[in-house]
Amino acid sequence: MIVVMKPGCTQEHVDRVVKLIREMGLRDHIIVGTERTVIAAIGDKRSVDKSAIEHAPFVDRIVPILAPYKVASREVKKEPSLVPLDGMGAVIGGSRIGVIAGPCSVESRQQLFEVAHAVREAGAIGLRGGAFKPRTNPYSFQGLGEKGLELLALAREQTGLAVVTEVMGVEQVELVARYADVLQIGTRNMHNFNLLQRVGQTDKTVLLKRGWSATLEEFLLAAEYIINEGNHNVILCERGIRTHETYVRNTLALGIIPAVKRESHLPIIVDPSHGTGHSYMVAPMSRAAIAAGADGLIIEVHPDPEHALTDGAQSITPEAFARLMDELRRVAQAIGREL
Ligand code: PEP
Ligand code: MN
Repeated sequence: MIVVMKPGCTQEHVDRVVKLIREMGLRDHIIVGTERTVIAAIGDKRSVDKSAIEHAPFVDRIVPILAPYKVASREVKKEPSLVPLDGMGAVIGGSRIGVIAGPCSVESRQQLFEVAHAVREAGAIGLRGGAFKPRTNPYSFQGLGEKGLELLALAREQTGLAVVTEVMGVEQVELVARYADVLQIGTRNMHNFNLLQRVGQTDKTVLLKRGWSATLEEFLLAAEYIINEGNHNVILCERGIRTHETYVRNTLALGIIPAVKRESHLPIIVDPSHGTGHSYMVAPMSRAAIAAGADGLIIEVHPDPEHALTDGAQSITPEAFARLMDELRRVAQAIGREL
């Protein structure tokens, strides 16, 4: 951190800041320029609130140098992480791109099994499907609950696909972890720090969706909550953010992919379904995500989107998914990756 002093500060003002820096257990280094004096605070003390120094007289501003995240950052681990989806060999990260696909919600045995077989056939490595749904409207379909989890586990038995499903509350973690391979934290829960810590105490991989108003820094700090509990298997997911736009459900911020790659060793996948809200946009944005360096995708696929109980508008058919996978293979190949 650098403390920038205002013009006209005296030795007394500098001494006061130096005293505060030392009280925080940090070392100081004073640089007197022709116009300004700046004081560098040296040492890694992320737990102290250094911004309080702003109160000292003649302090202009505090400029942080270290990123506030640590275990999720490249500073701590240089090589990109490969994160297993299950114990069966499905992995996100590395040169191979991984695609997770399935319905928004588990609706019935017939619906889930049809999609599961189709997406596996097309090359998906994970099966998504919500059993507990975080609905904005309390009168909307809330999911099948444990019955949905049972169906997901049966679909895994039949297809070998890793099961990815959302957990909405601390009290649900044990139940969902009994059935799922990957615990999904939804956008609405990215700031639920108790839930992040609780999934960090499990041995299940966590798919962490970006909060729809979260900054990159807040997103990585959320991952940090999980990793700090001992669970290093975290996959980030960009699913679009809230903007003023109305022609999309969310604005898919693909720029976060290179930014995450620069800042973190964690893999990042993209959700073009929630990230756009419209089925016609799913294929182009999937291609763009892979071209931009995403490690995978999570896509909503429904055998009969017109009759889907949730998110029908953004769901693609199994046939469209198979065509998309062929296109994605070519995009992957063009950038030296495989799918
Ligand atoms: C979902 O993936 O089913 C979901 C609800 O996504 P999000 O949390 O990104 O809205
Ligand atoms: Mn959905």
